[in-house]
Amino acid sequence: MDVDYLIVGHGIAGTLLSYELMRQGSSVIVIDNEDPQRSSLVAGAVINPMAGKHWMPSKDAAVLIPQAIETYTEMGRLLHASFLSPIDLQVYHQTEGERDAFTLKCGQFPEQMSLMSPEQQAESGFADLAGAGVINGLWLVQSSELLAAWKDYLIKNKSFLSGSFDQQALQVGAYHIRYQDIKAGNIIFCEGAVAMHNPLFTKLPFTQNRGEALLLAIPGLSQQHIYHRKYRLIPKGDDLFWYGSNYKWNSPDLEPDETWRAEAWAELASWMKLPFSLKAHIEARRPTTAGQMPFIGRHPQFPAVSIFNGLGTRGFSAGPYWAKAFAAVLQGRETAISGYNQERFSRFFNTP
Ligand SMILES: Cc1cc2nc3c(=O)[nH]c(=O)nc-3n(C[C@H](O)[C@H](O)[C@H](O)COP(=O)(O)OP(=O)(O)OC[C@H]3O[C@@H](n4cnc5c(N)ncnc54)[C@H](O)[C@@H]3O)c2cc1C
Repeated sequence: MDVDYLIVGHGIAGTLLSYELMRQGSSVIVIDNEDPQRSSLVAGAVINPMAGKHWMPSKDAAVLIPQAIETYTEMGRLLHASFLSPIDLQVYHQTEGERDAFTLKCGQFPEQMSLMSPEQQAESGFADLAGAGVINGLWLVQSSELLAAWKDYLIKNKSFLSGSFDQQALQVGAYHIRYQDIKAGNIIFCEGAVAMHNPLFTKLPFTQNRGEALLLAIPGLSQQHIYHRKYRLIPKGDDLFWYGSNYKWNSPDLEPDETWRAEAWAELASWMKLPFSLKAHIEARRPTTAGQMPFIGRHPQFPAVSIFNGLGTRGFSAGPYWAKAFAAVLQGRETAISGYNQERFSRFFNTP
């Protein structure tokens, strides 16, 4: 079988890149071993223009967010579904200091941030601790629906292979690769965090970051908002909320951390007035990198081998922009990935 691209991985990276390549007429096969702990299924899948603890507009939001909206909307049109909804974030302050800092920011960014009135707080379902505010302009991606619908589309187009990619069976030539009965012009690895063990990419400085969340049933809490205090409650339909998450560096095991669960549970109980119950405790490794730089490009020694990875904590917000820009380069419509430091990426391969 001859195809233009063989893509390893059907997380959000492989989904977006295969979509962009197929949209422009390329033939693609995606192979995936359907790991239930893939980062893209565990993620909160929020797109937030205000980043960090200090609620500052993220510096590349003006480029990334319009592209994310365009891509998810177009994919929805193609797949006859809706994968993106606008949403606001209610921020419940832990201290008066936090509240005062937030109030100052409201003056600086009045279009994005405002204070919640006492009436709004009274209706919210949370104890009034140190006051609350609202940030608007966020988006929520229906991630599991998107991945499932894209997989169905690939299957219908005879473009999906279920199973583990076997690195031993890969033959890399100068202008194409062979894998079992497939001959492809390019293989693109979108394997998420396990790419740190890929022998072709040992020089890339991946880091290990593990994140956990709890799936909670909270009957009576509105599904119209995201709620943030120390952790975040994200609506997932019916009575279900995603609650998390933590960031654990260099933690090799993927077992539920009971200590974190108890701490997060107590934290929620201290401000939530409604009863809640545990449905699941989920976890995954984020594909994080030193310097938070995504790894995008052709292998300098093997031009028929590429990588699209390292989306870190922002696969859903940054992925659409990078996928579109990389597809344009792979297909020869552009010579460089706009906004990407290709030289730095290539330099990693020359490190001893
Ligand atoms: C708790 C948590 C919360 C998060 N919240 C957000 C958020 O709110 N917003 C946001 O933008 N990002 C968020 N992220 C980050 C986001 O999840 C990642 O950036 C993104 O999912 C990475 O996607 P990926 O496709 O690179 O990797 P993955 O989702 O891990 O996908 C990799 C795929 O490759 C497959 N694979 C790997 N090796 C093989 C092989 N040998 N053979 C076949 N298949 C293989 C795996 O099965 C998997 O399907 C969060 C992450 C976590 C853990």
